[in-house]
Amino acid sequence: MDFNDTPEEAAFRAEARAWLEANAEPLAPGEQPASLEGRFDPEMVRKAQEWQRKKADAGWACITWPKEYGGRGATPIQAVIWSQEEARFKTPPNIFAIGQGMLGPTIMVHGTEEQKRRYLPPMLRGDEIWCQLFSEPAAGSDLAGLRTTAVRDGDDWIINGQKIWTTGAHYSKWGMIVTRTDPNAEKHRGITYFIVDMQSPGIEIRPIKQMNGMSSFNEVFFTDVRVPDRNRIGDVNDGWRCALTTLMNERHAIGGGAGGPEFRDLFRLARTVLWNGKPAIQDAGVRQRLADFYVRAKGLQYTSYRVQTALSRGQTPGPESSIGKLVGAPLRQNMAAFALDLEGAAAALLDRKAPEGALWQLAYLGSPGLRLAGGTDEILRNIIAERVLGLPPEIRVDKGIPFKDVPTGPRP
Ligand SMILES: Cc1cc2nc3c(=O)[nH]c(=O)nc-3n(C[C@H](O)[C@H](O)[C@H](O)COP(=O)(O)OP(=O)(O)OC[C@H]3O[C@@H](n4cnc5c(N)ncnc54)[C@H](O)[C@@H]3O)c2cc1C
Repeated sequence: MDFNDTPEEAAFRAEARAWLEANAEPLAPGEQPASLEGRFDPEMVRKAQEWQRKKADAGWACITWPKEYGGRGATPIQAVIWSQEEARFKTPPNIFAIGQGMLGPTIMVHGTEEQKRRYLPPMLRGDEIWCQLFSEPAAGSDLAGLRTTAVRDGDDWIINGQKIWTTGAHYSKWGMIVTRTDPNAEKHRGITYFIVDMQSPGIEIRPIKQMNGMSSFNEVFFTDVRVPDRNRIGDVNDGWRCALTTLMNERHAIGGGAGGPEFRDLFRLARTVLWNGKPAIQDAGVRQRLADFYVRAKGLQYTSYRVQTALSRGQTPGPESSIGKLVGAPLRQNMAAFALDLEGAAAALLDRKAPEGALWQLAYLGSPGLRLAGGTDEILRNIIAERVLGLPPEIRVDKGIPFKDVPTGPRP
């Protein structure tokens, strides 16, 4: 493991830092970067778009993308360096991650040249925001069990069905949707992937109220929604292959759920909160818990350095990249629960009077979602068991059966 920048990496870091220092304000010590936490308002979108365009004009947006679509053809390690540097500055929350981190790479691999030229540059500049229309009420972990249908009608396809948990559907211009196009094929086969205009007639978006009082995701209903065939990504009935590209990038994009409080914030809290008139950190039990969190947080950090070292050597990261979310999300949840214990009665507040601007309250309420989005803990364990440890795969009772014959409850 090599923690030092090579001379080229150091030069790149200096260039990135110089641009950021000239164009953004550094975070004060202990200050948190802006986090979306389910908040949405037009002013926030405007600020996020303004920052994104500024970066795009200077060549600092989606830097690993090829130059012809607005990127700078940077290496993965340069992308890591850029995000480390950008994280030290006050910037608006990233509302473009779904498009740029998951859907852009899918178009890059499976889209036509015309689709790449049409969709990638405005995605990179933040002019067009995207959402991911994958999950359905009965298809989450088992995404290939999806039932939303697309039926060919001349040059168009007609979509009917329901999606759920669609983050940002209410402020997105475009969505990437997976649909069932051949119910006679096996479940992973008869699926086709489309780009859908979220303002199309027949789309109804209903917000879902979360336990933190916000609504970052939605139910989305499709009634005879027309999508032109030119919006198809990949071949008809080959959408599962394209969906896998999106999902692979999703886990990488989500990682440990960057942007929330970290160990150092918990440590600060333990030093400032008073227990029986003394700072809580003087309590041996508190110190024991802190030591435990520190070890886990450090383990995660050094594991991420292994990923970084692999990238730096031009290698593909191995099993360690599966660990980030599986360890990071429960760690965030456990630290938040402990922070609320430390805050005592004040932990019940969720307004301006809450300690540290409700930093830990929001982390506590948001962390169960982190353990589900982009693959639940159990699904990640299955992946590690099968692909890393080589254990036997799960039994699949629907293998080799046409989707329409897979036993299920009543179909709509
Ligand atoms: C914050 C957040 C944002 C999201 N944003 C989006 C979005 O923008 N677009 C989108 O399409 N979706 C989105 N999702 C949905 C997300 O992808 C699903 O919640 C996730 O895939 C799990 O699916 P499910 O909720 O249907 O749970 P289910 O798949 O029904 O799982 C229920 C429980 O059963 C367990 N389980 C299921 N199968 C197995 C198995 N084979 N072995 C062991 N245990 C199993 C699961 O681990 C879980 O505990 C979001 C979710 C969250 C929480």
